Amino acid sequence: MAKRNRGKTLKRLPSNSRGNCPLCGRKRIKLLYSSKTESAQTVTVCKNCRQK
Ligand SMILES: [Zn+2]
Repeated sequence: MAKRNRGKTLKRLPSNSRGNCPLCGRKRIKLLYSSKTESAQTVTVCKNCRQK
């Protein structure tokens, strides 16, 4: 798979894909990874909260 979370791809996202992580609550960090919550919602989370 290509590097989806680097380079020009980030610039195309709204506000350079920065925001508040819903899991750890940190602000203005890059939300690069999609994760599913318990209620089967898809949320974007930061690097620390991604599912490995
Ligand atoms: Zn997080």
